[in-house]
Amino acid sequence: MIINFFMPTKVIMSEECIIKHADLMKEYGKKALIVTGANSANNCGALSDITLALQNQGITYDIYDRIRSNPSIASVYDGAAFAREKESEFVIGIGGGSPMDAAKAIALLAVQDLKEEELFLGKYDNLALPIVLIPTTAGTGSEVTPYSILTNDIKQTKTSIQAPLLFPKIAYLDARYTKSLPMTVTINTAIDALSHAIEGMLTIRATYVSNALAIESIERITQCLRSLSPSKVNSENQLSKDIREKLLYGSMLAGVVIAHTGTTAVHSMGYCLTYFKNVDHGRANGLILPSFLRFIAKHDIELAKKVLSAAGVASMDEFEAIFLRLLGDREQITVKEMERFAAIAFQAKNIMNTKVIPTKEDIENIFTRSLQIL
Ligand code: NAP
Ligand code: ZN
Repeated sequence: MIINFFMPTKVIMSEECIIKHADLMKEYGKKALIVTGANSANNCGALSDITLALQNQGITYDIYDRIRSNPSIASVYDGAAFAREKESEFVIGIGGGSPMDAAKAIALLAVQDLKEEELFLGKYDNLALPIVLIPTTAGTGSEVTPYSILTNDIKQTKTSIQAPLLFPKIAYLDARYTKSLPMTVTINTAIDALSHAIEGMLTIRATYVSNALAIESIERITQCLRSLSPSKVNSENQLSKDIREKLLYGSMLAGVVIAHTGTTAVHSMGYCLTYFKNVDHGRANGLILPSFLRFIAKHDIELAKKVLSAAGVASMDEFEAIFLRLLGDREQITVKEMERFAAIAFQAKNIMNTKVIPTKEDIENIFTRSLQIL
């Protein structure tokens, strides 16, 4: 048996965990940079908790709130310049995957002079500002991964900076912050987390440990999916504390899974839908995942059955029905677009990471089955 497991992030999950465990941040410096999106960090209560916690510890802070969904390369260079100007000693990212990923890149670029063409090459000095992350969506697991995923206009897709030095020092998980999530974001992010756990099982890098975490994550998340419904306008007061906590826990576990395994063709294909058609990240994965699992089942039925069993369903049809109910009408693309997306997705690193490696034709077939082709 070979085990190779590395998870250096201190994960603390409880109500009011930031206030209760604020002293942990003291060792990272006296001046923090808080990185957020436009509104949600403030609206969900996380920003006021962290600023109070920092004040209690005698730590001063500046706020950089210019990160938008699917963060651009320009925005993280801008954030890093801000961090240098303010002489920030550590970075706190609050939000969904977008501000958390941006916080990681800012922590790297604040102390390393990397040109844009060097950003994704993986050749970094062992230096970044310490990173503290606070998820306000239950989906990406970025709070426990060494990845920062940015929109890459040169490659016309999303690409990741990957380095162990991007593992956050601390992840504070307080499910109260997910209370304000609109139902659509709750659904899309839950599906993203589910996709991470399932894809982790389908990679060549899956291990006993990653599979154990993946199965626990899939079980927890699929139990919660039954309570989600796109017809509910807002999840506030409709999702119980128990469900919000399970989703956040399942999402964190799935993050630990992909920190070890990486993702598969599902994410590569999803990135095309996000880049070219502006489809939300989690939704994009959810559109692709059922057909991708059918493809796996054709070649490795035992592997697909393990996933179905963890998801608590008896058949591929039952699995797909979960996604049909939650995602509604599928996006339309032309044949030409589909061929272009398949060509781009086929170039991605994670294609080779899959236990059953799809051909370009397989990818075209999966796109065709997953979307409405005009
Ligand atoms: P997001 O882009 O971070 O946020 C989506 C929307 O949700 C934003 O409008 C945001 O508002 C809002 N929001 C966030 N928290 C909220 C809350 N508690 N209440 C109300 N609204 C809230 O979405 P995401 O799905 O979490 O992250 C997607 C990104 O993560 C993608 O770029 C993806 O590539 C990346 N990702 C990274 C990893 C990794 O390992 N690093 C893994 C998977 C995905 P504000 O703009 O106001 O904050
Ligand atoms: Zn994802």
